[in-house]
Amino acid sequence: MNEAAEDQRQHRDYAARIDGKAFALALRADVAQGAAGFQADVGRQPGLAVVLVGDDPASQVYVKTKMRQAAEAGITSFPHLLPGSTSQTELLELIARLNSDDRVDGILVQLPLPAQIEEAAVIEAIDPAKDVDGFHPINVGRLSTGQSALVPCTPLGCLLLLQDRLGDLSGLKAVVVGRSNIVGKPMGQLLLNAHCTVTTVHSRSRDLAAECRSADILVVAVGRPEMIDASYIKPGATVLDVGINRIELADGASRLTGDVNFVAASSVAAAVTPVPGGIGPMTVACLLRNTLTAAKARSGR
Ligand code: NDP
Repeated sequence: MNEAAEDQRQHRDYAARIDGKAFALALRADVAQGAAGFQADVGRQPGLAVVLVGDDPASQVYVKTKMRQAAEAGITSFPHLLPGSTSQTELLELIARLNSDDRVDGILVQLPLPAQIEEAAVIEAIDPAKDVDGFHPINVGRLSTGQSALVPCTPLGCLLLLQDRLGDLSGLKAVVVGRSNIVGKPMGQLLLNAHCTVTTVHSRSRDLAAECRSADILVVAVGRPEMIDASYIKPGATVLDVGINRIELADGASRLTGDVNFVAASSVAAAVTPVPGGIGPMTVACLLRNTLTAAKARSGR
């Protein structure tokens, strides 16, 4: 047996499936407790405005889930379901009203937006104190300078799972695959703030597999079904799979899969998140957590 195979054999015994769904449930219970405390102190529930433009079916499902879970956590949703023909001016007017509405602590604008609306203009119009997606340049800047900030929900969920599993992340080697503004870049920044040694790789990187194999923590956010197999993973690594890909099957049905081949990864890694049931549920839980954080900060708590 060669050295790599022996390494794999030794680590196979403790590969584990990280249950993001269960962790998200516990996190939402914590938020519910915090929201009840907020209501007792302030006399109202934390409020989340949810803005959806158009009728994209996936976005409708996401928005419905977010509002249902908000209600379960004791957070009031203010839904604004606008037609796909909405102009940028109309949307910016709505954002201005929500910014000055005291019942609204968080503003979520579901992306993507229709082509006639510039996403950056909408994100920059949101009051940074109500920016529960953490996309506003002020919050991005605060995160990158190590100040307190509202942080994008998906990478925040990843960080909480990692800290729960590994404790102090100080000194660990982390590799993030993907450099989007909503996942890859803030993920790298959060891991750097947690004192990891961080490498971000992307479509132009050379020898991606070798970079990934150097990682104690591997976070993958690419959008390519099962691109990461065992040859990308260091024995004993912790692997978080952010990808959500819908695969069409021969019989016309479809299934969801991540960017990581879960079975192959489990034979080498210490722990892997599944898709579904890994990072996805953490994203919504972190949105609720951010809404409570924003509500408390706005009321000086
Ligand atoms: P983007 O398309 O914005 O970014 C993808 C990144 O992957 C880019 O940086 C791109 O590099 C990189 N990339 C593409 N192909 C390769 C390759 N062959 N090798 C290395 N890097 C590559 O995607 P997002 O970050 O928005 O999302 C990524 C995935 O995560 C998607 O499947 C999405 O559905 C999912 N997602 C899941 C969430 C959840 O809640 N679980 C939330 C958000 C996203 P380059 O910059 O060079 O083009």
